[in-house]
Amino acid sequence: MTPEETAASEPVAARDKKRPFPWTCPRCLQQQVHLAVIPYRAERGRGGRLVSVEIPALRVPKCAHCGELLITYDVDDQIRLALDVAANQMAKQQPALPGRESANSQDAKESTTQSRATA
Ligand SMILES: [Zn+2]
Repeated sequence: MTPEETAASEPVAARDKKRPFPWTCPRCLQQQVHLAVIPYRAERGRGGRLVSVEIPALRVPKCAHCGELLITYDVDDQIRLALDVAANQMAKQQPALPGRESANSQDAKESTTQSRATA
């Protein structure tokens, strides 16, 4: 299961902005999830290439007990925005390489699911 699918199947994520902290952690069930600001490296397949971006201050709900990061719609928006900027910069620098789309998409999927696979 990918993080995207998890978010889509949990209607609770849509109410994130209205829920006051602390939240209950979905992983360890402790009520210790607070909004944290952390450096975060995101990688995703974009337009036939892998785009990676360093986000120096990502606002993300994080469990103080087990360290679980909760990728909500709000967090996903921040990541997508940063990736948009990075993708635009890459597009200006060099044209897309044909024939690498499938491999790059696969890499991106694996990297995004990695944090949840360690449970
Ligand atoms: Zn936890």
